[in-house]
Amino acid sequence: MLKTESINSPEDKVDVGVQIKEIHIRRMTKKWASCSSKGRLTFDPVLLDESKKKRTEAVLHELLHLRYPNHGKMFHLALNEYRRKSNA
Ligand SMILES: [Zn+2]
Repeated sequence: MLKTESINSPEDKVDVGVQIKEIHIRRMTKKWASCSSKGRLTFDPVLLDESKKKRTEAVLHELLHLRYPNHGKMFHLALNEYRRKSNA
């Protein structure tokens, strides 16, 4: 049984303003999470055992990729902003 609610527990809620089509949980070998340009997010279940901080970080990272496909300056600015908000 996967603890999917851990990813979206109420205290983790921050509105990134993107549209998610699907969320998948499956084992990945090279990374913890990925996203497709079509709005599908995939998370590795190992993430569920990580700290809340790391989970939030990973979720935010992938959500922001739906807005910024690369790791450019805007991506990092937005990531910092939402990271700050999610800790507020
Ligand atoms: Zn990335």
